[in-house]
Amino acid sequence: MSNNNDHIQGVSEDVYECIEKFDETKTKKLAEVYRKVLKYIGEDPVREGLMDTPERMAKSIQFLTHGYHVDPAKILSSARFREDYKQMVLVKDIEIYSLCEHHMIPFIGKAHVAYIPNGYITGLSKIARVVDAFARRLQVQERMTVQIRDCIQDTLNPMGVAVVIEALHLCMAMRGVQKQNSVTTTSAFTGCFLKDYRTREEFIHLIGVKLH
Ligand SMILES: [Zn+2]
Repeated sequence: MSNNNDHIQGVSEDVYECIEKFDETKTKKLAEVYRKVLKYIGEDPVREGLMDTPERMAKSIQFLTHGYHVDPAKILSSARFREDYKQMVLVKDIEIYSLCEHHMIPFIGKAHVAYIPNGYITGLSKIARVVDAFARRLQVQERMTVQIRDCIQDTLNPMGVAVVIEALHLCMAMRGVQKQNSVTTTSAFTGCFLKDYRTREEFIHLIGVKLH
């Protein structure tokens, strides 16, 4: 896991604070590349409307991939509280904006994350931040689902973790098979969500998603 935070300063402190601060050298280099991209697709990179586009793209791609500089395990372990609560903790409808690693085209959707504490809980917002840390990278939905599950399992050591992600892949909608409305659902479970059918059913009922 990359925790290389000298590219985007302040990222380890608070990801939301960091994202408008971009490394100048990197931004310049990326902008140069994007200027070439514009030329290769048949555009005129110096026409008025495109003058600042390469720099905007350079900043945009750094924002969209800032998850590489965030350590999700650290987010959770820095907000781990001792608590005897042993019921399901569920954070529903966490928005996901990610980029597919095959086309670098967005896939967008929702994550539903649940865990059953085993002595430790974390802040609810931290779950959303962990999802974001993995989403803001080049991803495949299947791997991201498992990464989120494993990160929570490894840092909080709960009785079980459940992660379901529903997403629309724009690379499918805009190009290729052009299936505009097909949503991909992935799921990953550990512990009691795997072993106990009723716990898993309760979770699936609460999130209102059909798993095939
Ligand atoms: Zn794709």
